[in-house]
Amino acid sequence: MSGTSRIEAVVFDWGGTLTAWHDVDFHAESLALAEAVRHAHDHGPGSPGALAAHDAAAARLHAAGGVVWGRSRDEQRSATVADLFTEAGLDHDPALLDAYYDFWEPHTLTDPEVGPLWEWLRSQGIAVGVLSNTIWPREWHRGFFARDGVLDLLDGDVYSSELPWTKPSPHAFRAAMDAVGATDPARCVYVGDRLFDDVWGSQQAGMRAVHVPHSTIPAEQVGHTEGTPDAVVRTLGELRDVVARWA
Ligand SMILES: [Mg+2]
Repeated sequence: MSGTSRIEAVVFDWGGTLTAWHDVDFHAESLALAEAVRHAHDHGPGSPGALAAHDAAAARLHAAGGVVWGRSRDEQRSATVADLFTEAGLDHDPALLDAYYDFWEPHTLTDPEVGPLWEWLRSQGIAVGVLSNTIWPREWHRGFFARDGVLDLLDGDVYSSELPWTKPSPHAFRAAMDAVGATDPARCVYVGDRLFDDVWGSQQAGMRAVHVPHSTIPAEQVGHTEGTPDAVVRTLGELRDVVARWA
């Protein structure tokens, strides 16, 4: 830390903020996830019985996803991939999640502006963090950052799959501050694409909020309140001017 900056840390949301927002086919997602159900191929691969069982498992996982994300929205309770299978009443083998991972992988690419932005923030003595609402394990997220050459620029990263809470709980934001070594929320900035989870949530935690307004948030994921951002940026590169002004 330089000691001169009035901003201690900038913490980022992940999906739709550090990555481009993509509208995802949730039916296809559920079918890929159902590949990990244990004994899914007991009927004989490709047999009518196996196909029906796969479709049924996918439908249950899709419904379970609604329950799990509803709990996040309404109660800020977190979940893991394993919790999703439990909610669906299905037994799964984590070693069989390849199809699900491959389904999502094209949607995980880091915005090319992230690297230069994070380098600049660190050059200003400002810590860089990530706080994501996610059911995925830490290794997946860190793998995406490593693949795209930005992992070494991160001072701290927090994934709700490892916490009891999700955003917008103030506890989640406090965990992110702790992870980057920040102590004063008024000197922290949060950047995200959601007006409830990210903007309202971080402001409730005492931070300043920057909105990246490119995502089409599904209606069932919109929360009870929308925060008014302290700043709006159309590209991550624009964040430099915003932070410089506040610093
Ligand atoms: Mg997001």
